[in-house]
Amino acid sequence: MKRGTELARGGLPAIDRATIHPFVDATPGPFFYQRTAHPVGAEAEQLLGELEGGHALLFASGSGATTALLLAMLKPGSTVAIAAGGYYGTVGLMRELSRWGIDVEEFDQTGEPPVADLVWLEPCSNPMMTFPDLDVAIGRAQASGAVVVVDNTVLSPVLLRPLEHGADFVLHSGTKILAGHHDALIGVVTCARAEDHARLAAFRTTAGIVAAPDPAWLMLRGMKTLALRVPRQSATALELARRLADHPAVERVRYPGLGDPIAARYVDKFGPLLSFDVPDGEAAQKVERSLRLIENATSLGGVASTLEARSRWEPERVPPGLLRLSVGLEDPEDLWADLAQALDG
Ligand code: PLP
Repeated sequence: MKRGTELARGGLPAIDRATIHPFVDATPGPFFYQRTAHPVGAEAEQLLGELEGGHALLFASGSGATTALLLAMLKPGSTVAIAAGGYYGTVGLMRELSRWGIDVEEFDQTGEPPVADLVWLEPCSNPMMTFPDLDVAIGRAQASGAVVVVDNTVLSPVLLRPLEHGADFVLHSGTKILAGHHDALIGVVTCARAEDHARLAAFRTTAGIVAAPDPAWLMLRGMKTLALRVPRQSATALELARRLADHPAVERVRYPGLGDPIAARYVDKFGPLLSFDVPDGEAAQKVERSLRLIENATSLGGVASTLEARSRWEPERVPPGLLRLSVGLEDPEDLWADLAQALDG
């Protein structure tokens, strides 16, 4: 069955918000208490597991999923190597954990990962847009004893399924392209192995970092159109990246779709996210203030395009003129007209 059909078919479950379900014949069923599992969540996990080819678990947010995964997998003295230029919140959380004896090192994911207990990759890193040679990086990391996590938030399983390349875990901020409409905060970890799934599920129940039924339902509904949205958003992003690259006010466009040979070995479309650089922070703010259609807002992956200067959040990690654009479903010509007037003005 084709992916689009697989995602679109069938109805949605009712939103069952019950925190308890009575035991049957004095025996708890699969949904006895919501912190352990609930029906909408179980349905979303089933679908995500099938899409990624593993065993999925929902969490309260992408960052909640990261927290649970790190706390469940690491112990004092563990070392983590994380792709430089990826989501700043992930490395921020890891640095926070250094107080608990976790050692963190950032590395260039286009090269070989350093020796570590856990290696964290982010294809189409947000916002620097680097792409690792997944097979090589995962193979080398595992050969030296590491567990490998791939944050697949930006590309989604429609474009990339990291478990097929040997990753041990896949992480998503489901808040982004999976839910797709900027209205649900949720996270996902998909495990390659059933025993890791069981361990993480038990940890989730104990820690209580769980997704409520409402965001799980919104993500399920969003996923009905995922196979349509991702190619369309990717095609528009590629077109805008090409035009931005020719614009005199733009110094650099960061998008693997503009000829990254490694990325092209793994994906045939490059997702909704791109970054481009204008000369400085002042020029970046001018673009932000001039937008009329594209929302000057954070986050990514929604049907409405968003743009922001990332230096407001991570000034030590990105150039002051770096603008991150998440391309939505608006008409490409309308989006280009807005970008062009903001850059020209
Ligand atoms: N991973 C990536 C690549 C992200 O962009 C984000 C959020 O921006 C996260 C993880 C964290 O997700 P959430 O905001 O759902 O906690």
